[in-house]
Amino acid sequence: MKEILLCKYGEIVLKGANRRYFEDTLAKELRHRAASFGSFTVRYAQSTVYIEPQDEYADLDGMFEAARRLFGVAGVVRAAVAEKNMESILDTARSYLPQFLADKKTFKVEAKRSDKAFPLASPEISRETGGVILSALPHLRVDVHNPDVTVRVEVRETAAYVHAGQFKGAGGLPVGASGKGLLLLSGGIDSPVAGWMMAKRGVKLEALYFESIPYTSEQARQKVLDLAALVARWSGSMQVNVISLTHLQEELVKHCDEEYFTLLLRRCMMRLASRVAAMRGCESLITGESLGQVASQTMQALNVTDAAADYVVFRPCIGMDKEEIVQIARMIDTFETSILPYEDCCTVFTPKHPKTRPVLEKVMEQEQKLPVDALLDEAFATLETFYIRAKF
Ligand code: ATP
Ligand code: MG
Repeated sequence: MKEILLCKYGEIVLKGANRRYFEDTLAKELRHRAASFGSFTVRYAQSTVYIEPQDEYADLDGMFEAARRLFGVAGVVRAAVAEKNMESILDTARSYLPQFLADKKTFKVEAKRSDKAFPLASPEISRETGGVILSALPHLRVDVHNPDVTVRVEVRETAAYVHAGQFKGAGGLPVGASGKGLLLLSGGIDSPVAGWMMAKRGVKLEALYFESIPYTSEQARQKVLDLAALVARWSGSMQVNVISLTHLQEELVKHCDEEYFTLLLRRCMMRLASRVAAMRGCESLITGESLGQVASQTMQALNVTDAAADYVVFRPCIGMDKEEIVQIARMIDTFETSILPYEDCCTVFTPKHPKTRPVLEKVMEQEQKLPVDALLDEAFATLETFYIRAKF
């Protein structure tokens, strides 16, 4: 018996003139991911992408998980392929379905026949398949209104497919459909989640990490590269830019009032991020800030920070509690890496009493104590770029 995957895309993808583009994008990305799992063919028809293993070495389980991490895919179905006759369909139902139904109490069968030349009508296909399931698994009951699981038989162009329900996909829009964004990626819990959330809305990600060696370590940088690789499992390969803020931070600490350190640093980050974005064709900045979480994340502080950015700043975690952010971090598998205890440049010279309600004019006065432009040029010159290839 042969098992294949059917990927169903979300409603939103189907609308308008872009449909063809979205379908091509998804099929292309699925083909790309499939290459890591062996020999598969990937094609689409009737709002479904078909992924078929070509030999026994193809890793269908691995491909199943990789397809579920692809944005734009609403659901993934594992289906057994049957020949287009009732005998084969019933044999397949008998041997394939028990693994999905053993722990269920109720089911129903829905048949769909897009090939109208098939001799049986849909209700008859359903009835016969239901009969076979009941005799194989006598503990089950049919419930047509609220079944634990819906078995589907789809008689299509070249074959029939038997399956027991759809697994949730990543949802959202195909990556790239909404343009490109620059993710300010620290080693914390929030920024990888923020990147993931924007990638889900179709944003292709590039990352930027600020370090401050020797105040931050080589391990802190590696941790950020590791986090980028984990996010890339969903969003695809990405570039990670690294800029050193060591000298800029030292000057800042020497010349400015302590209560402004973090704000001044964050404005410098925004300026440098805007430069990187311009250079790399990104049209937005993305951060992991959440309202009120720390002193630099009050409305007043965010206004002061944003005044230094040339692009819209997306903060998808802004309305989320830490617990909600952690939940996503666990789901996307970044949490365990994020909690490794390495310092961040933001926490190197943290003021004891940071300004929580800063006024922009006062912040700019502080900035004037420094040759900001020269320091930014110097920092920008330290830019290094790493290519993080997604491992699906
Ligand atoms: P996170 O958990 O993402 O580190 P946080 O709650 O620790 O966030 P901050 O340290 O104030 O908050 O940082 C807020 C946001 O600024 C981060 O989510 C990230 O987008 C960005 N940021 C902070 N530090 C850095 C850094 N060293 N490099 C790049 N971006 C950073
Ligand atoms: Mg942080």
